[in-house]
Order: sequence, then C-alpha cells, then structure tokens
Amino acid sequence: MSTTEVENYPGFPEGVTGPELMERMRRQALRWGAELYEEDVVSVDFSKRPFEIKSEDRTMRANAIILATGATAKRLRIPSEEKFWSKGISACAICDGASPAFAQKELAVVGGGDSACEEAIYLTKYASKVHLLVRGEEMRASKAMRDRVLDSSDVIVHYNTSVEDAAGNAQGFLESLKLVNTKTNESIPEPLKVAGMFYGIGHTPNTKFLDSQLGTDEDGFIIVSDHDKTSTSVEGVFSAGDVHDKEWRQAITAAGSGCQAAISTERYLQMNKLLKEVKMMDTKDAKEEIEAAKKKEAEAPKKKTHEPAIDADNFDIDRQKHQGQYALRKLYHESPRPLVVMYTSPTCGPCKRLKPMLSTVLDEYEKSIHYVEIDIAKDPEIAESAGIMGTPCVQVFKDKARVAVINGVKMKSEYRKIFSEQLIESSAA
Ligand code: NDP
Repeated sequence: MSTTEVENYPGFPEGVTGPELMERMRRQALRWGAELYEEDVVSVDFSKRPFEIKSEDRTMRANAIILATGATAKRLRIPSEEKFWSKGISACAICDGASPAFAQKELAVVGGGDSACEEAIYLTKYASKVHLLVRGEEMRASKAMRDRVLDSSDVIVHYNTSVEDAAGNAQGFLESLKLVNTKTNESIPEPLKVAGMFYGIGHTPNTKFLDSQLGTDEDGFIIVSDHDKTSTSVEGVFSAGDVHDKEWRQAITAAGSGCQAAISTERYLQMNKLLKEVKMMDTKDAKEEIEAAKKKEAEAPKKKTHEPAIDADNFDIDRQKHQGQYALRKLYHESPRPLVVMYTSPTCGPCKRLKPMLSTVLDEYEKSIHYVEIDIAKDPEIAESAGIMGTPCVQVFKDKARVAVINGVKMKSEYRKIFSEQLIESSAA
C-alpha cells in the first residue's frame, strides 16, 4: 500500500497511515498463526492439484489460493519519459515527494481522480506550488478530494491540459513540461517549469505472472463471479482487492474483499474435504504470541537490518549493516568491500517491503559487502548530493565509484546478481 493517510478506514477516527495499517494487519495475521514469506512469486501452475506456486526461494503447494497482488500505477509514456524517470518523473508522489530535489520547487501531478488529488495535496508539504494537470473539463475525484484540492492555495488546477513531452536541465534533471490544450489540440507555447512530474492516472493489475491461466478482462483485471465476487474462472482460486476491483479501490473495500475471499476459500476447502482444522490459540497463547512477535520485531532491526553507527564512538567497520551519514562517509573512504547504500524515506511503503528482503540477501554476503541505510528526511544533504529523486533507491559503490543504481523494489535475484558481479570483479582484480 503506497497511500500515506487512510482517512476512511473504520476504527481509526484520526486516520491511520498506510504503512501503519499494513503493520497492524501483519501482526494480526501472525497472531492467528499465519506464516509470512516476503518473496516475489515467479509463476503459478493451476493445472496441478494441489496448485503449485514458485518463488525464487521455494516451491509451495496449496489446495486453494487467494490472489491479492493489487495494481501498479500507470505511466503516460511520453517520448522522454525514460530519460527523466527517477530524475524528476515518478509514479509515486508518496515515495518520492520527500526528495530534497523537490523541496520548495514547483511540481506537477497528472490526473483528475482521487489518486492525483491525494498526490497533489501530499506534495504541498514539500513544494512551493503544485500544478494539477487534468485532461478533461472536470476532475473525476470524489467531492471530498476535489474540495481539498480546490481549497488549497498551493494547488493550481489546469483543466483541458495534457503533457506532450518533457525537457531537462544541463544536469539531466527534469526542468519543464510541454503541454497541450486538449480542447483545441494545440501545444501551449509556454512550457511549464517544474522540477517534478508525478503520475496519478490509474493502475494496471498485477496479473502478468498468472500467464493467462485465469480469466481476465481486456485490461488484465481478474474476472470474478457475480455471486460471491471472489471466485475466479479456476475452481479453488479466489481473488481479493485491487487485482480485480476497478471501481472502489479503498483500503476498506480491499480488506472486505479479502474477508469475502477467505470465507469463500474456507467453504471451498470444507466442501471438498480439504480443510485442515487449526486449533485456535487460546487468549493466553495469543497474547504470548503477540508479545513474542513484538519483542522479535523490536530486536530485529538492531540485529538484522542495521546497527546504529552514528558517530566515532559506536562505529564498527567489522559490522556489515549501518545507518546514517557518519557511517556512509567512513565506509565510503575506508571500506575495502563493495558498499551498498539504500536511500529510504519515512512515508515510503515500498521501502518497508524492500528493507527485510534486502537484509535477507545481504546476510548471504555478511563478510564481503558493507551496507548503510540513509533516511533522506534525516540526511537530506546526502540525498541531494547523491541525486536521489525517489525511494527506495539502492546504489552500489566500489573503490569510491558508483557501479550500480537500482530504483524501486526488484526481485531478490536482481540484487544478488549485482552484488555477486561486484565480488567476482573484486577477486579478479
Ligand atoms: P481513476 O481511474 O479514478 O482516475 C484516473 C485519472 O487519470 C482520471 O482523471 C483520468 O482522466 C486520468 N487519466 C487517465 N489516463 C490519462 C492520460 N493518458 N492522460 C491524462 N490523464 C489521464 O484512478 P485513481 O487511481 O485516481 O482512482 C482509482 C480508484 O481508487 C477510485 O475509485 C478512487 O476513488 C480510489 N482511490 C481512493 C483514494 C482515497 O480515497 N484515499 C486514493 C486513491 C484512489 P479522465 O477523468 O479524463 O478519464
């Protein structure tokens, strides 16, 4: 979930952030005995029973599956999009907006739906002004969202406006947008000077890995049955949330859909005599379980993801994982190992997904690679000098030269490949 503030989830009168809501749900699932694997599924085979699910790390078999893979933000694909991708153009204001490169600059958001409005409002925290570029006569967003935008003196709405292309500055970063009046189809002579452009133009469902084994519509959204809204074209495979829902797409509707899918799955397993009863934990056990999980989580960051190495007193070069600019400077100058730097920001949902995954991969290189995490909100000058315009961003350095940049969240294999390549080159040298 990349939404920052969720205002309409029942039970949270003051609202709740997307990452916090996810964390609470995770803990709740753990409390009830769920086993969680943070991995990318590479393929599924629905022709076998039990079904087969493959990730890079394991093959699993399941009598029933619930697909809840969500949807990914769409892009405009303007001619120079690749050139300025992560250099000013982004599909996630929530992840990238805090970048120092956008601070007190004019920014643009494309779209007129709830996502675009939410992004525009969010960006007013950082930008000097936000231009909302709406291709039609009006915004399609809900009245509440529209009103927030229209009431904000920091957002300027441009109706009947679309983006034709972008231009950059001498350093290769986005500087301006070439706009078109969609009513007359004529280019607008004056380019719009912005340091960032964020897309809020809808989503594409994450169904590619299904390899057409399931009925989807022309846009790739899973088709669910009318009677329970969760059964798919394959018996025993159910769908939940944005991967089939084009319309409601709220955290609460996705959660409701997940509940429907779980009940449908249970009924299916029961009817087919595949249900294995799991004894519910009694209250005492459940409490102990959640306390143990909390304790483990409290210890985990210290032990696994990083060690606080803030100053000369507690910096230890023999440790693999570090945090903050002091450690970065020391390791950059003194480490003989390849150095992996991960740039994160506090509101970035994908960063929370990447951290444990990257940490697992780094454990395989405990004695051969150094790692440091930089929070761009805490160390904006470091982020600025590294040219960070979005998080998560992983940069790999060797002998003080930057040898790789990986934006966003990729599969574990991609990180392994880059780390291993650097080590092979080091040993060959
Ligand atoms: P929508 O499909 O609702 O809106 C997409 C917007 O992008 C529309 O304004 C559309 O224009 C515009 N657009 C699409 N393609 C282009 C293009 N090529 N060039 C320019 N503009 C384009 O998607 P959203 O992601 O905004 O919302 C999806 C659902 O999620 C909605 O149901 C929404 O309510 C919900 N949502 C709720 C949130 C909340 O309440 N916190 C936050 C985010 C989403 P046009 O109108 O002309 O078609």
